[in-house]
Amino acid sequence: MIHLPNDDATCGWYHAITKTPEKPRLTGEQTADYVVLGGGFAGLAMARRLALHAPNARIILIDAQRIGQGASGRNSGFVIDLPHKFSLEHPDPAHKQKLLKLNRSAIDQLSSLVSKYKIDCQWSAAGKYQGAVGERGEAYLDHFEHLMKDLGEPYQHINGDDLSKVLGTNYYSRAIYTPGGYLVQPAALACGLGDNLPDNVEVLENSPINNLSKEHGKWLLHSKHGVVKTPKLLLGTSIFTREFGFLKNRLLPVMTFASWTRPLNDDEMKAYTGLLDWGLTPADHAGTTIRMTADRRILIRNTYKHVDKYGASSTVNENVRKQIQDDHRKVFLARYPQLIDVPFTHSWGGTYAISRNFTNFFGELDDGVYASACDNGVGIAWGTVSGTLLADLVMGEQSESLDDIQHVTGMPSLNPPEPFLGIGVKSRISLAKWLSRSEI
Ligand SMILES: Cc1cc2nc3c(=O)[nH]c(=O)nc-3n(C[C@H](O)[C@H](O)[C@H](O)COP(=O)(O)OP(=O)(O)OC[C@H]3O[C@@H](n4cnc5c(N)ncnc54)[C@H](O)[C@@H]3O)c2cc1C
Repeated sequence: MIHLPNDDATCGWYHAITKTPEKPRLTGEQTADYVVLGGGFAGLAMARRLALHAPNARIILIDAQRIGQGASGRNSGFVIDLPHKFSLEHPDPAHKQKLLKLNRSAIDQLSSLVSKYKIDCQWSAAGKYQGAVGERGEAYLDHFEHLMKDLGEPYQHINGDDLSKVLGTNYYSRAIYTPGGYLVQPAALACGLGDNLPDNVEVLENSPINNLSKEHGKWLLHSKHGVVKTPKLLLGTSIFTREFGFLKNRLLPVMTFASWTRPLNDDEMKAYTGLLDWGLTPADHAGTTIRMTADRRILIRNTYKHVDKYGASSTVNENVRKQIQDDHRKVFLARYPQLIDVPFTHSWGGTYAISRNFTNFFGELDDGVYASACDNGVGIAWGTVSGTLLADLVMGEQSESLDDIQHVTGMPSLNPPEPFLGIGVKSRISLAKWLSRSEI
């Protein structure tokens, strides 16, 4: 039995978009020159790039769900250019510059696709605020400032009154603004990309692959109603890569959660007093991420959980879900007490993969099987650039970017066996949450 993706229908971003008709399922016996498994940002980029290199090849992109229903459509929509969290602490400046360049090439690629296909996804060069609440957060901001100076990256201090004019709350004492990141409606972007793939990419939705086998040098992907045979398989399956026996015991499934309000009405906007279309991440990592969307919704994201059974976002039971929603409400009201009458309309979770050494995997896993897996939670930009370059690797296309990505990726470290792993991860998450409590 393998874990199959089965995200529930609670995601606000997915709920808010107009759906296009469902794509066909995998049925019968098929053959393809290339199969891409997984229709998140990584898989979408793989399929697009393969098609560019091989316009006459038959390329099949398969997802267990509809495109946009997985983690790529459930995230907070920060398209991040800067190396993230632990990568920012990397001792080698060249490593960080390569990450920055790779992420920026993803942003350029997405910008041009959004404009070429007129994808209606609130794509915005909004930059990002990193906000501190108290002393501990401010110390993190000081450290972040040093890192920005070392990187040679522009940033701006935003203090007190100026900050509350943007955020509509004086909850934060100070922030650093970096201009290079983008914001997006992630489900709208994923679906828009999926609907505008090159003609020789066939998209098959609602086709969970429950077995992978090999016969006469070709890979066979089996679903309930069909099978597809291919010499080249590209996996954009994130944490589910483990289910096919690859990177087993190296990827860690982490779930994080978000809630959002309905769009504020005109009176509520007056009470809010802040601007539209900004995003703030916490100075202290385990704190709360907030967005005010371009369409007037306030989104709150926090809480990390190690989830053994990550096949369904409903893996978290109703009590835990209720608790998380109540916590989000407290966080919201601590910042926006004037919006007490504005309800949350959706609360959802999603799973992604991290590794203990915060290393991304990129490359060949077996003869004819390739993957980009484990983005450590920065999947929009990283999924896009790593998926693109993975297709280049498969097609033998050399480039400086391909050298760069091979330089900055590696092997995620081995995890200790259960129950030690679960206990270790849970205690680290609890400690981080406690230390970041002022920013939750
Ligand atoms: C609440 C939340 C907030 C986040 N915020 C951000 C953010 O602001 N910015 C950011 O960059 N990242 C963020 N992330 C992380 C980001 O969403 C992920 O890193 C990213 O989606 C990974 O992309 P991917 O394409 O590699 O994998 P996924 O998006 O997980 O796609 C994998 C796909 O593979 C399919 N699949 C798996 N197994 C099978 C199978 N057996 N058969 C068929 N199909 C299969 C799944 O259905 C899925 O669609 C957040 C994540 C969450 C949950």
